Amino acid sequence: MAYEVEGELPTIGYAATRPSIEIANGAGDFFSQTEPFPSPPAFLAWMGRELPFFFTPHIEGSLLTLAPGRAEIHVDIVSAAFYLLSGWQEYFSNKRDQHGRFPFSASVQDFFGFVEVPVVNYYFDVLRVAVEHVTGQPLRPRRWVADAPFATFVTHDIDNLYSAWKEPAKEALRRRNWLGFGQQLWRRWTRPDAWDNLKQVGEEVARYGAKSAFFFLGSHRPSETGTPNADYRINAGDIKQQIRLLRDWGNEIAVHGSIGTSDFDLALTLEHLALLEVLELMPEAREVCGNRFHYLRWEPRHTPFALETTGFEYDSTLGFAEHFGFRHSYCHPFHPYDFANNRPCGFLEIPLNLMDATLHHPRYLQLAPDEILPAVEPMLREIERFGGVFTLLWHNENFDPANTVNGPREFHRIMAYLRSRQTAFLTGRAICEMVK
Ligand SMILES: [Zn+2]
Repeated sequence: MAYEVEGELPTIGYAATRPSIEIANGAGDFFSQTEPFPSPPAFLAWMGRELPFFFTPHIEGSLLTLAPGRAEIHVDIVSAAFYLLSGWQEYFSNKRDQHGRFPFSASVQDFFGFVEVPVVNYYFDVLRVAVEHVTGQPLRPRRWVADAPFATFVTHDIDNLYSAWKEPAKEALRRRNWLGFGQQLWRRWTRPDAWDNLKQVGEEVARYGAKSAFFFLGSHRPSETGTPNADYRINAGDIKQQIRLLRDWGNEIAVHGSIGTSDFDLALTLEHLALLEVLELMPEAREVCGNRFHYLRWEPRHTPFALETTGFEYDSTLGFAEHFGFRHSYCHPFHPYDFANNRPCGFLEIPLNLMDATLHHPRYLQLAPDEILPAVEPMLREIERFGGVFTLLWHNENFDPANTVNGPREFHRIMAYLRSRQTAFLTGRAICEMVK
């Protein structure tokens, strides 16, 4: 899926299968146990940089030896790639944060400092050199659209449409600023809310010739623990109209699974059906085929099952809320691993790389506006290097001009950079079509 393969690939495997590309076997019995973390990786150089290689026996000299018609890879890139892509650490670790998520601080990416590096793509690059040597043919990275070096998937989670007035009003109350409080209430009743801006979001993204995906919450009730879901109802008349308008403009409409749906397939299916109804589509229609969970909730022991049961073609939840980068150390879409049935999941994961809230939040990063692009540019260069997909999440609330920290200006700076790099803007549904 990451390369354009023409013709037969050479055989690749461990020594016992006598393949033409032989890979060192370094995992021992790790995968028959339930330890979340393997021994620390060896740091070895590839493409001019030091990278972590898990399951690597002690090696001297280079990673790779080439001989006529065959190649030997002296690091176990198969085990290391499987460990990271499958999300093994999350499945077998019991660490979860207050929102039930596997925390970044518990991850190997944080511990060994490689969250901004798609190391699995580098592992595959070692394999690419071996394949090119054995076949004598170049192996080119997948191209998404003609000459575009990489793709960008712009997304918006729609949590709130009517709550822009709440924070300033609360702040005025705290300061006992009665006039200010009264002004906020007055605005609340006389003017549209600053976050009631779906049309504006669609227009701002269209300036780049892009279409984006809008993820709508199916529940307006807070969760049992009090975590808020939507402040709107998707089946209210004016909301329905706006969702249909966005769709008619060519944007993608997708499900933003509310709190609880990542553990419970029936609840997720009902939210999917409710959104289909808003668009007057039959249940078998493929038009609403994507999901991202609210609060990036993902419980590896249940969530893949809920997504498969509902029949989604893709999910785009898997990024760390605390840090931008690569939660599964990979910058292409991939099929997550189904641990219960020992097979790949049927749906595609289009990993989330950057969420607006991550950039400036009391518990996440606290970047100044001018620090944002320099901070994320190395990650974007990695995606470009491997022809991957950059998934960006910018909430509609952060198109409010009152937000000067991670607001519209910061969004447009990132978009202008992406355009200058000639990215192809694609929706999740288009990405699924291309991968098929
Ligand atoms: Zn959300």
